[in-house]
Amino acid sequence: MSDIKKEEEKGLNFIEEIIEADLAAGKYNSIITRFPPEPNGYLHIGHASSICLNFGLTLKYPGYTNLRFDDTNPVTEDTEYVESIKEDIKWLGFTWKNELYASDYFDQLYTFAIKLINKGLAYVDDSTSEEIAAMKGTTTQPGVNSPYRDRSVEENLELFARMKAGEFPDGSRTLRAKIDMAHPNMIMRDPVLYRIKHAHHHRTGDAWCIYPMYDFAHGQSDSIEEVTHSLCTMEFVPHRELYDWCIEKLEIYPSHQYEFARRNLNYTVTSKRKLLQLVNEKHVTGWDDPRMPTISGLRRRGYTPFSIRDFCDRIGIAKRENMIDVSLLEFCVREDLNKSALRRMVVFDPLKVILTNYPEGQEELLQSEDNPEAETITHRDIPFCRELYIEREDFMEVPPKKFFRLAPGQMVRLKSAYIIRCDEVVKNDAGTITELHCSYIPESKSGSDTSGINVKGTLHWVSAKHAVSAEVRLYDRLFRVEDPSSEEGDFKSYINPDSLQVIDHVYAEPALLKSSFDERYQFLRKGYFCLDKDTSEEKLVFNRTVTLKDAWAKEQKKG
Ligand code: ATP
Ligand code: MG
Repeated sequence: MSDIKKEEEKGLNFIEEIIEADLAAGKYNSIITRFPPEPNGYLHIGHASSICLNFGLTLKYPGYTNLRFDDTNPVTEDTEYVESIKEDIKWLGFTWKNELYASDYFDQLYTFAIKLINKGLAYVDDSTSEEIAAMKGTTTQPGVNSPYRDRSVEENLELFARMKAGEFPDGSRTLRAKIDMAHPNMIMRDPVLYRIKHAHHHRTGDAWCIYPMYDFAHGQSDSIEEVTHSLCTMEFVPHRELYDWCIEKLEIYPSHQYEFARRNLNYTVTSKRKLLQLVNEKHVTGWDDPRMPTISGLRRRGYTPFSIRDFCDRIGIAKRENMIDVSLLEFCVREDLNKSALRRMVVFDPLKVILTNYPEGQEELLQSEDNPEAETITHRDIPFCRELYIEREDFMEVPPKKFFRLAPGQMVRLKSAYIIRCDEVVKNDAGTITELHCSYIPESKSGSDTSGINVKGTLHWVSAKHAVSAEVRLYDRLFRVEDPSSEEGDFKSYINPDSLQVIDHVYAEPALLKSSFDERYQFLRKGYFCLDKDTSEEKLVFNRTVTLKDAWAKEQKKG
């Protein structure tokens, strides 16, 4: 991972260069940015990138960041989304200065529209959307003027007022800017500013039946808030001309739009519309399914806010779109969890071990470090007795060379406990191994080992008598292909059928009975885990956040 440099080592990104130049030139003393989600879904990892950029800039430079809901589309928006977006931004660790809604500006935006009409710069068009599209022209052909383009100011004012009053059905009229139907930028060919939509809005209720289009709400909202640097993704490059046109003609505060490239993660989709399909069609259990690339899914999976911010810092920002390898995100969370996760032992597929020379009925408590990487080392007790479980795959009756785990006559260390030797393999009638008879070396106790025996392998284990039951959920990529959206046909046909593996009964050391939602765990040799919200009085449920090392990359190298 040496090619991945931290942001500070990379110098300024192009937006920081612009801001530093603006501040140096005295254009601004402080800056204002905003994060402008449309509340029509849950935030995903791409949004995290935009959040880290917008909020990060005003942590670095004087100024502040607003949270503005771009809620001008009543049909797809909902307060559930508003709440989840706020929760996600707070969880990531950022604080907005003002919580704002484009819908709060509906009166103001209506006044702006009137101003354009009065200036002869907007008109009511009775054409249908199909007719408007047909008159638009192409990139090589100029468009055609609408027959309604030359209505008088008075007639436009009257019709626009009647649109607002609800006199006309949906789609029967629009308000359009009067710019130039032969403009080389198609977006400037008399864009629609308002449409009629008799729909209930999650905040304004039924107060409005005309709604401003994105292009007539976004820039003006920026301007009302005196946003200095309005950052959006590359698809808005052609809209910048209209953004500037509105500000100029309305003679309002000159916000400036700058564009950066969308961030996409491989083996998933980052589009709210597509994620909504996965939820609605029950391919996942919800927006916070741990396989989802949503912030809430990543949170439930066990990702930390730091790991996501670190990931966004490392990928930085660019002008060209590219696909980011999900293994970088996994690398970031491993780095963070290695420092904070409590080490615990859990056996997934048990094989019983009986220590024939350990007295029956005897028990002892062994001490083991919670985390050898922590600044202050703490310990927990692990009960040890005559009957234990080890992982079935840690034993081989006929081991290959260099198999340093358990085999007949071979010795291994049990983590934080003793060295044991396998003396006898017990099988049932079907030939399946049912238990191992082993002997332990009393002088080999971890921490006070005087046995002089050197063993190569260390195994995790649990006491059979004290083990507690838990469910673990192991996750793999949600899609089988790197970029499901660019494949032929329905993106959902590329879903990985094996993205979830549930092991409903694993054997955990008893310290895990006291697990809590704000702790993270490393199950030795198994990966990083966190408690899932499905945990109940009856059952502990753990999600695997990530494996210990990148098994996937290794697999690919082999492949
Ligand atoms: P989606 O296609 O997922 O619905 P969107 O752009 O419509 O995304 P918005 O709610 O409008 O979603 O996005 C809020 C902000 O986040 C916008 O400024 C948008 O440009 C930015 N953003 C959205 N997706 C990404 C991404 N993949 N990478 C970086 N920024 C993004
Ligand atoms: Mg959008």
